[in-house]
Amino acid sequence: MSATTEKPKHFIRQIIEDDLKSGKHTKIVTRFPPEPNGYLHIGHAKSICLNFGIARDYAGLCYLRMDDTNPTKEESEYANAIIEDVKWLGFDWGDRLTHASDYYQTLYDCAVTLIKQGNAYVDSLKMEEIREHRGTLQQGGRESPYRNRTVAENLELFERMKNGQFPEGTHVLRAKIDMQSGNLNMRDPVLYRIRYVSHQRTGNEWCIYPMYDFAHPLSDAFENITHSLCTLEFQDHRPLYEWLITKLTTAPQPRQIEFARLNVSHTLTSKRKLRQLVEEGHVNGWADPRMPTLQGMRRRGYPPAALRQFCEIVGVTKSDSVIDMSVLEECVREELNEKAPRAMCVLRPLKISIENFPSDSPQQIGAACHPQHPEMGQRTLFFAREIFIEQDDFMEQPPADFHRLKLGGEVRLRNAYIVRCNEVIKDDRGQIVELKCTYDPDTLGKNPTNRKVKGVIHWVPKEQSICTEARLYDRLFTGPNPGATDNFIQLLNPHSLEILANARAEPALASAKSGDFFQFERQGYFVITDKTNEKIIVNRIVGLRDNWKLI
Ligand code: ATP
Ligand code: MG
Repeated sequence: MSATTEKPKHFIRQIIEDDLKSGKHTKIVTRFPPEPNGYLHIGHAKSICLNFGIARDYAGLCYLRMDDTNPTKEESEYANAIIEDVKWLGFDWGDRLTHASDYYQTLYDCAVTLIKQGNAYVDSLKMEEIREHRGTLQQGGRESPYRNRTVAENLELFERMKNGQFPEGTHVLRAKIDMQSGNLNMRDPVLYRIRYVSHQRTGNEWCIYPMYDFAHPLSDAFENITHSLCTLEFQDHRPLYEWLITKLTTAPQPRQIEFARLNVSHTLTSKRKLRQLVEEGHVNGWADPRMPTLQGMRRRGYPPAALRQFCEIVGVTKSDSVIDMSVLEECVREELNEKAPRAMCVLRPLKISIENFPSDSPQQIGAACHPQHPEMGQRTLFFAREIFIEQDDFMEQPPADFHRLKLGGEVRLRNAYIVRCNEVIKDDRGQIVELKCTYDPDTLGKNPTNRKVKGVIHWVPKEQSICTEARLYDRLFTGPNPGATDNFIQLLNPHSLEILANARAEPALASAKSGDFFQFERQGYFVITDKTNEKIIVNRIVGLRDNWKLI
């Protein structure tokens, strides 16, 4: 268990270590229970890392359980995406992929037991009436006139509910607990309702479906979950969780522990709001690279290790907070800085002619793929008479602190020579279209002592470089906390996507494939998303530094 000692020991790890030490448990079992009614997002990543991480670190088990109790909102498309996402994040559930629907028969049997115990009854009030009877936080509830039906009557009605003999909305099964309880969840909560809806897994086998609050604690018990970790909003459901477990199962019983949800600035972690972005067309589907969904972040090029590291850093507490997006972006950079080969790509090209370059064919120059990792090898650059530099690396009337290229000035081309700009060529409209330069053949890899060249800029050869479409993604929202308002649409960042269709990447990228990622020097980390004979398409994963605050 040495891995655990290096990790910050948050309160849940502490509880687990205590339970192992005291012998209360010898094997830890956790679960991640998504409802397949949407795509997983960064908040879910925290829960996944917590549940699977604990199972991994304490040699336990973790289930991936689809909480598929609401067939009206759930689809197999979502379930498949969830499976893909958890795998992508780096976790393995072995043969422990389960569904609440696997337990429908057992759950039904539990409901029958509860009726026989006198702990549940069939109520024939309408849903609205049940709501009215429930009372408020200030006022106790009222008992349903059907509350004291006999066990025999309840058993018969419940069976007829199951057999499809009643229309939707006519009866429900409720727990018989306490209509005066200070906790609204304990005022005879509904356990089953009638729904003539086909279920993605059980088809038309059932027309009564268990409520989440009934299915969830019992599914935990069936799977011998030791620690049922959930977010704080379930705190008020814990008494019901424990009530059901106590009435229907024998020890050892799972223990529910709540922790604070993860919120990240400049984005959303509400499925409902994310769905609105998709349905209203503000983004390009759930997998849009600007979305905080796991699918989106994967398309964006975020490495799964960066997300795991982020979840480790944010920790697990009982108090809600918003973590700044820059923390996540820094985790992405740290991971990519180590792993990404370096390359040059000019996003907005400006042509340079090196007039004293002696040959029609380019000169091949070797350059390291990674400055700190020689084992990553070398790539070949092609220095030629015509090259491209970035438009904004040249200024005709630069301020004093501009260290890049200006008329009559010198700059170093990264991994190559020092060049001097001698002439600026413009078109009819006064736009700069070309710079005439000369290079100093004596400056490859060295800087003669009499030179004061401060700037280093990237470049690519005109002929051999690769046509590239670069998609520059930025934060989806300008405001730090779009989740706090229902007006979040107004906070969308109008510049969250910029497409540069005429970028050019260095020739070495000819052998790269989709999914390969690079640090484009001075521009950020990029991933290749598509490749055709004509061009490559790249996404900017993240810039090189946090310059959000400067914008
Ligand atoms: P819904 O409102 O649709 O239930 P949900 O975000 O709770 O949305 P679930 O699929 O029920 O979605 O969530 C699965 C698990 O992920 C739950 O255990 C939930 O507590 C956890 N979870 C959801 N959102 C977050 C979040 N922002 N931070 C941490 N855990 C989360
Ligand atoms: Mg939920």
